[in-house]
Amino acid sequence: MTHDIIVLGAGMVGVGCALHLQARGQSVALLDRRAPGLETSYGNAGIIQREAIAPYALPREPGFLLSGAGNRRIDVRYRAADVARLLGPLWAYYRNSAPAPHARISREYETLIAHSLETHQQLMHDAGANDLVAGQGYLMLYRGERALQGAFQDADARVQSGVQHTKLTGADVAREEPALTGAFAGAVRWTDPVAIRSPGDLVQAYARLFEQRGGSVHLGDAMTLRRTEAGGWQVDTTGGATLEAKQVVVALGPWTMQLTSRFGYSAPVIPKRGYHMHYAPLPGKPLNSTVIDAEYGYVVAPMKDGLRLTTGAELARPDAPRTSGQLDAAERIARQTFPLGERVDPEPWMGTRPCMPDMKPVFGAVPDVPGMWCAFGHGHQGFTLGPITGELLAAMMAGATPRVDVGPFSPGRFG
Ligand SMILES: Cc1cc2nc3c(=O)[nH]c(=O)nc-3n(C[C@H](O)[C@H](O)[C@H](O)COP(=O)(O)OP(=O)(O)OC[C@H]3O[C@@H](n4cnc5c(N)ncnc54)[C@H](O)[C@@H]3O)c2cc1C
Repeated sequence: MTHDIIVLGAGMVGVGCALHLQARGQSVALLDRRAPGLETSYGNAGIIQREAIAPYALPREPGFLLSGAGNRRIDVRYRAADVARLLGPLWAYYRNSAPAPHARISREYETLIAHSLETHQQLMHDAGANDLVAGQGYLMLYRGERALQGAFQDADARVQSGVQHTKLTGADVAREEPALTGAFAGAVRWTDPVAIRSPGDLVQAYARLFEQRGGSVHLGDAMTLRRTEAGGWQVDTTGGATLEAKQVVVALGPWTMQLTSRFGYSAPVIPKRGYHMHYAPLPGKPLNSTVIDAEYGYVVAPMKDGLRLTTGAELARPDAPRTSGQLDAAERIARQTFPLGERVDPEPWMGTRPCMPDMKPVFGAVPDVPGMWCAFGHGHQGFTLGPITGELLAAMMAGATPRVDVGPFSPGRFG
């Protein structure tokens, strides 16, 4: 089975790449060990974050670092053994989170985010997936007045980047979300983002579009990738077939380094795990929008399977044993605020955000490995950035000029 290009990994990023390569007339095979959209792109909070023009920085306040030391925060926890191995990348992340480098990085990041919504909207239209939109915008909720005023200032600063919002007082919040309980100073309603009621279904709808347009989707282990004598690539499917192509795109999310390091390419991925659980809605108490509890760093989103609570970050290897403390702690706080009924899922879901020390995704040609390209490291916004990443990578692979300067996202930048 010979194709022009094999894409490895069928998360939002891999599917976005496959569709855009196909749109440029390439014959593309997409391979994953599972059906499309069942890993990180399945379990996230489902927000297409047009407002996220600044990537998530590591808070540098001494108070945050001190309170994190006890490993009991709700928004960030860590596994000590893994953090010890990540000290170099974490130090770089800390330095890049200082105001000046973070401002520069944000200017680069924004060039991607600016096109994130339109690229999704085109695919949603083509895939007939608009029914997966749960709603327009989401709420960033604040209990304290000082934090709220800071958020208002930040929101005002984003207007010049074309990001819109409305400012809500505590009374406005009570009117918009009467099922919330507690005293809130107010909220920022980001009005551009789109909330999806089943992120995994959206990836699957895009993968079906790819198939309808002539692409093929295969089950198989990407780790079987090997060079052919002619300098191309081969990979085995679980069905016993062998896929062959001149070029390969590695889009394995947090697992990307497992494969590329075999061919000599490594980059410092910081794995930030997250958990989710669905809760039955309480009768007569609907949640109208997705809400981020800014103080505690978790999200509650009305979704197909119930109210989905997603946690903040746990710094731990993707394959390290799961923990329950962070979700339990977020649930305890969330129950004081949100109309959460019984747990719905038998087990919490867990996934891993692939984050880079400079907070930017990585896509382009893999240095010194001819015919190998990669797209990974999308951190907190890979669900948002999958389609625009695919568009830009496809342009690069075609030798065309991408509409965004792709230099800041180069795989070679880690030296
Ligand atoms: C709790 C949480 C909430 C989040 N909320 C949001 C949000 O609201 N908005 C947003 O934009 N982003 C959000 N994110 C981030 C986003 O989910 C990720 O950045 C994004 O899903 C990464 O996509 P990906 O395609 O790179 O990786 P994945 O979706 O993980 O895809 C990688 C694929 O590689 C496959 N694979 C791995 N190894 C192999 C192998 N050996 N052989 C074959 N296949 C293999 C996997 O099966 C998988 O399908 C959130 C993340 C978490 C954890």
